[in-house]
Amino acid sequence: LKEAVAGLRDKVALSCRILGNAGLADFLGHVSARVPGTDKVLIRARGSDAGSMLATTAKEILEVSLDGNAVRKEARLRPPLETPIHTRIYKARKDVGSVVHVHAQAPVIFSLVDLPILPLFNQGMELANEGIPVYPNNSLVTTASAGDALAASLGHKMSCIMFAHGIVTVGRTVEEATVRTFRLETVAKMNFLARLLGRPRAVPPMGRVVGRAILDGEIRGEWGYQVEMLEATKRTRRDEFR
Ligand SMILES: [Zn+2]
Repeated sequence: LKEAVAGLRDKVALSCRILGNAGLADFLGHVSARVPGTDKVLIRARGSDAGSMLATTAKEILEVSLDGNAVRKEARLRPPLETPIHTRIYKARKDVGSVVHVHAQAPVIFSLVDLPILPLFNQGMELANEGIPVYPNNSLVTTASAGDALAASLGHKMSCIMFAHGIVTVGRTVEEATVRTFRLETVAKMNFLARLLGRPRAVPPMGRVVGRAILDGEIRGEWGYQVEMLEATKRTRRDEFR
């Protein structure tokens, strides 16, 4: 289990760096993962004094219990203020193994104007098809009851927009939850651009029938691509500063 936890810690940190590098997360935001078979969660420690998402390493990943408290006190690290986003979703959803919360912008725009995100693009179509709920409160989710209200808004879906605040995506794995953040941002951007040009034609709900296996393959592929993009950015920056 110890090795599995270390590997998961690395993966949560890698997801944070990927989202930070892609501009989908500012210095705030957090990724978490449930330690399989336990009620413990690995989560990026509190943002503002732990550096940016882009700089996250396994050292900034804290283990918390489902009540939101750190399993072992670490002087440097505290659970993020919005830990209940994660813990209350894990409590409500046995199928969820990873949660991402970031302040991505494109999906949030749709909560400001009461427009649905339509299934207009293959990337993210599965999210739009199932419907993307909106949690209608822009206060920070810092209490168990706020976390429960958010989990109720999410329901059995894979993504949720938090009004004027950000988004939540979930998955069985860190890879799934992370890739869904990209897919949600992409389908939201396509909706935004289509509405600038005209009235988007509804794509039939099953316009692109994809089975579980295909979606799983896409998620593996996109995760690998995002890891490569992060590596490519690092190489470019090294060249710049030589
Ligand atoms: Zn937030």
